Amino acid sequence: MSEVQRKHFLVSCKPCGHVWSLTPLPMPMMEVANLVKHARCPKCESGSDRHFMAGEAQAAAWAQQLEARG
Ligand SMILES: [Zn+2]
Repeated sequence: MSEVQRKHFLVSCKPCGHVWSLTPLPMPMMEVANLVKHARCPKCESGSDRHFMAGEAQAAAWAQQLEARG
């Protein structure tokens, strides 16, 4: 697990490929599970059944975007 994955719970949307931080970490697992359950993709509004945890490569790309934005 990469550094960025320890600091953010990153979710990836299957239909549109969007990657976003559901919540900063650490956070109690119960609360994370609750957020995951009710999550909606900010881009295409797909439900949590279409999401999966972002992989290391996706997390790295996400972190790069964040840096580029400042
Ligand atoms: Zn989406």
